[in-house]
Amino acid sequence: MNPGRIKCPTCKRDLDWEQARFRPFCSERCRLIDLGAWVSGQRAIPGDSAVPQDETGGDEHSSKRDM
Ligand SMILES: [Zn+2]
Repeated sequence: MNPGRIKCPTCKRDLDWEQARFRPFCSERCRLIDLGAWVSGQRAIPGDSAVPQDETGGDEHSSKRDM
């Protein structure tokens, strides 16, 4: 399957999958920007730091099911 057209995650520019040398990014610059965002912690890792540690008001956890 050919994905065809993709979007650069950094600048949201449309580009051809076949033509993109630094896919999924449109250029090396956008790739480096994205990597920099990772290092500096601007971009949160899904399922890791995005989950709050404190469970204040978590009724879903505390509620017991009666069977
Ligand atoms: Zn880009």
